Amino acid sequence: MQRRQITVDLTAALERGELSLLYQPVVDLETGRIVGFEALARWDHPTRGRLPPSDFVPAAEESQLIAAIDLHVLRRACVEARALGHTTLAVNMSPVTLRSTGVIRRILETMRETGFDPRRLEIEITESAVLLPSPEVQTGLDDLRDTGVRLALDDFGTGYASVVHVRRFPISKIKIDKDFIFKLGQDPDAAAIVEYKVRVGRSLGIIVTAEGVETPDQLRFLRSIGMQEAQGYLFAPPLPLAAAVAMLEREAEG
Ligand code: C2E
Ligand code: CA
Ligand code: CA
Ligand code: CA
Repeated sequence: MQRRQITVDLTAALERGELSLLYQPVVDLETGRIVGFEALARWDHPTRGRLPPSDFVPAAEESQLIAAIDLHVLRRACVEARALGHTTLAVNMSPVTLRSTGVIRRILETMRETGFDPRRLEIEITESAVLLPSPEVQTGLDDLRDTGVRLALDDFGTGYASVVHVRRFPISKIKIDKDFIFKLGQDPDAAAIVEYKVRVGRSLGIIVTAEGVETPDQLRFLRSIGMQEAQGYLFAPPLPLAAAVAMLEREAEG
């Protein structure tokens, strides 16, 4: 599909409500309990079926439509996540969205209008947002933090972000990309890198989450180095809301 055509179709898709959300549990490795869910966007395309973000986020970022998508996802997630008890709700925001005018004000508006507790919200931002911070982004993120919204640095270690960047921002969590987790047990360097990141997080007083945990061996290793949280198919794939609610209920029943 041409990128321009995707953009035209996406604009209509937003109006027609074709974007839906899946929720992937985040597990506390100390207690084994679900502490949060990450909302992940899908496009229910009328002819092509359910499309993953990799099929439409890049085109949406080029055309600036991503800000409308991210805010739509945020609003929808804030409404739907009322069914998810007191767990944390994590939402992804593109660096393009963070740089767009008025976005912080609109995030705060969304919180107010949906009545969602800002302290339950975590916004996942990627390294490129902190590597080239405009003064507006920097102040905007500080303003957000003042309302109780937490910031997580997504895919930490895939680019050039370092401890220095983490410290400049009000970041309360770093997420280790699944590519590093997949290499555990095969690439000896991967284990050292992941272990180093857990130590960096500890020393900064920041929670560290591992993404893409698929096997019991990976989990055993992550526990042994003191990883705090994990997410991955071993626990659950991204789930429709009803299935996420059911999983929480099963957990509560013990
Ligand atoms: P991400 O934020 O790094 O999200 C994690 C991705 O890993 C998700 O892919 C998730 O489904 C997948 N995943 C989780 N556990 C496992 C596992 O055990 N094994 C494997 N192989 N994969 C796992 P998904 O849902 O396709 O999303 C891809 C990316 O799209 C996300 O990466 C995020 O950067 C972006 N994205 C998703 N929703 C949104 C959104 O609403 N706005 C923006 N701007 N980006 C979004
Ligand atoms: Ca804990
Ligand atoms: Ca994410
Ligand atoms: Ca990732």
